[in-house]
Amino acid sequence: MTQWILPKILPNNLAAVPVIDLRGKLPVNPNGGWTVINPPRNVEALTDIVMHHDALSKSSTAKYTDEQLIQNISTTHINSKKNRSKGDGGFPYHLFIRNGKLYICNDLTDFTYGVASNNGYTVHISVSGNYAGNDVLNDADRAALYMAYYIAKSSMPAFKELRSHGEMTPTACPGYSMDKVRSDISEIELSMELNDNLQGQLLNAAALETRVKDLYKKASNPGKNQFEAIRKLSRVADIMRAEGLL
Ligand SMILES: [Zn+2]
Repeated sequence: MTQWILPKILPNNLAAVPVIDLRGKLPVNPNGGWTVINPPRNVEALTDIVMHHDALSKSSTAKYTDEQLIQNISTTHINSKKNRSKGDGGFPYHLFIRNGKLYICNDLTDFTYGVASNNGYTVHISVSGNYAGNDVLNDADRAALYMAYYIAKSSMPAFKELRSHGEMTPTACPGYSMDKVRSDISEIELSMELNDNLQGQLLNAAALETRVKDLYKKASNPGKNQFEAIRKLSRVADIMRAEGLL
């Protein structure tokens, strides 16, 4: 998982998404891969996460396994003269989603071609399917997309913004609703925050239990700490009584 950092806290449905590392296993342009075409970017320069689709309808790719499709897309880009006469370096996205699985396809800092003239600061996530066409983003792929977002965000210390390809340049990519993506993500963030607060409060309760037990032990045993322990426990009891808790 070099370069990519798994988020510490995640909702269960995201934590269950399988993450498969394909780096080093995908076709590379014999004339030079991504790191030969451009030096890797500084991680501090990476501010934006960009969401895409691969624009290949699910029906047209159903015959391929995930890895076969990823290899096919890599080869198509290597053979394409659209961006460079010698072709692209390899697979164009950093993270790729298909069949509810998340594939790590490039290093975070690799300078790939995701959005023309905007590849110095962007990390590209793509979901297989044509969502500008007839495909619909299903729950499993949606969970994997959000997992990809959180892995990218956790890995980017200078993260600023989530955008879609179409919000940067005129294109139908990614086709799925970014309003829905953004509202889901803010809901996930709220629930993670609440969960974090609850965990903190539970730790407070555990600390209180330990302290009260310790004071009770001292209060019940004759010794130099006995009277002070009784005084403190009485104070706690007074406060609890005043709050209607005892
Ligand atoms: Zn795109």
